[in-house]
Amino acid sequence: MNIGTYSYEEYVHLVKSFHGSMAPGLLIGGFIVDLAMKNLPEGEFFDAICETPVCLPDAVQLLTPCTIGNGWLKVLDFGRFAVALYDKDSGKGVRVYLDSEKLKNWSEAWSWFFKLKPKKEQNSELLLGQIKEAGHNMLSLQPVQVDPPSLQRKKLGPVAICPACGEAYPARHGERCRGCQGESPYL
Ligand SMILES: [Zn+2]
Repeated sequence: MNIGTYSYEEYVHLVKSFHGSMAPGLLIGGFIVDLAMKNLPEGEFFDAICETPVCLPDAVQLLTPCTIGNGWLKVLDFGRFAVALYDKDSGKGVRVYLDSEKLKNWSEAWSWFFKLKPKKEQNSELLLGQIKEAGHNMLSLQPVQVDPPSLQRKKLGPVAICPACGEAYPARHGERCRGCQGESPYL
């Protein structure tokens, strides 16, 4: 059994060093990305869309050249456990999602995903075992047509110096940088 170009064991090792622990979502995510890559339409360069910020973006970044930093991975906050890979010129792609109909066949995975048990009652060995056993079998696949311009990263435009903090920021954000407009997370 392979996940992307890695063996199952190699993938588990990668996840632990990158993500910190073997999260069940990253194991499912590995199979999601793997299935999408095996069903890519023709095309040389592809981009990725991830429909949740939780876990899944790390699977995409481990298994494909698409990262948040290089702009080839877009993360949407839909809360759906799904990834689409698509050709960046034609927009033709494939979307793979966790299929709740199929997930029903794996009781521990089902109760984990729908948070039916408190964490301490979860059997994580059984959970990971079920996910591994299921592989692609809890997933479904559909063709998609993406509108690439709608996902293009906005150009930064002119750069200004913020009169409050003295740091450079995109002038289109206004008179001051967003940090000095009250959006800063720092107390
Ligand atoms: Zn500022």
